[in-house]
Amino acid sequence: MVRALDSIDRVGVVGAGTMGSGIAQVAATYGYDVVMRDIEETYVENGFETIAGSLERLVGDETLTESEAKAVEDRISGTTALDDLTECDIVVEAALEEIDVKRDIFADLDDIAPNETVLATNTSTLSITTIAAATERPESVVGLHFMNPVPVMKGVEVVRGEKTAEDVMHVAHAFAEDLGKETWESDDKPGFVANRILMPWINEGIRAYDEGVATKEDVDSGMKLGTNVPMGPLELADHIGLDICLHATETLHEELGDRYTPAYLLKRKVEAGDLGKKTGRGFYGHE
Ligand code: NAD
Repeated sequence: MVRALDSIDRVGVVGAGTMGSGIAQVAATYGYDVVMRDIEETYVENGFETIAGSLERLVGDETLTESEAKAVEDRISGTTALDDLTECDIVVEAALEEIDVKRDIFADLDDIAPNETVLATNTSTLSITTIAAATERPESVVGLHFMNPVPVMKGVEVVRGEKTAEDVMHVAHAFAEDLGKETWESDDKPGFVANRILMPWINEGIRAYDEGVATKEDVDSGMKLGTNVPMGPLELADHIGLDICLHATETLHEELGDRYTPAYLLKRKVEAGDLGKKTGRGFYGHE
């Protein structure tokens, strides 16, 4: 059995949250039939609402026609039943960033998916090898790390687990490229490429502000004007969610030691419930 892109018609997505709904939308936009699964009906409905809002914006700026947007929605079915993923040629898991949750999901997928199905995880920081070890087919498991927001961001990080087969790596790259993305590859090391570098950058931006190096605006301006990035570290932290940044930095700290110690102010803000845009206040106020 050698897996190839032309054997992929039906895509399963596990988790209908921020990332799962985005992945489902993009896969359906590029012509795939998608089954989006979450644990409760209300989460599935929320996923469809997110997709409808995103498609409406694309119709508004004339990127899609109304009939194209309707066709995208029609290609996605929602479910709470795991068994509805049995016909999928690739499954992309985008559930919670908890190792036990992901291992349980992969053990379940191992029970129900055909042998040739590619099993991908969208994890930001967890080990592909540890997730794959919950299955009897670690060679079929790969990291497919989409960026947020999925319909907008071009890049996808393809992560090679210890036992990921070459044809699975190949399909993972080809599938992401078929969704209009560009890929890069990372070994299965903590944080891969993207978060290993991004999280300490954000963390150091927070420290620089907290230690009085500059105002928060100047920390952000310094990075934007000085290094040509579209957002500074504090703005970006607000955008990602401070709780997500802290969780990722703590995982990196556990794996890689003191250079990843979370900034004091990051912890204090999370404790205070100031999580960024989602709560209306992070380092900045968000109306
Ligand atoms: P989210 O909280 O928005 O969504 C997670 C969804 O998974 C929820 O709807 C939840 O009900 C569902 N879920 C939980 N357990 C499940 C199960 N057993 N089966 C099916 N669904 C289940 O989270 P998110 O931001 O979409 O993140 C999902 C994954 O993507 C995480 O691994 C995260 O690290 C990764 N990721 C997130 C971002 C980001 O910026 N949000 C970026 C890249 C990668």
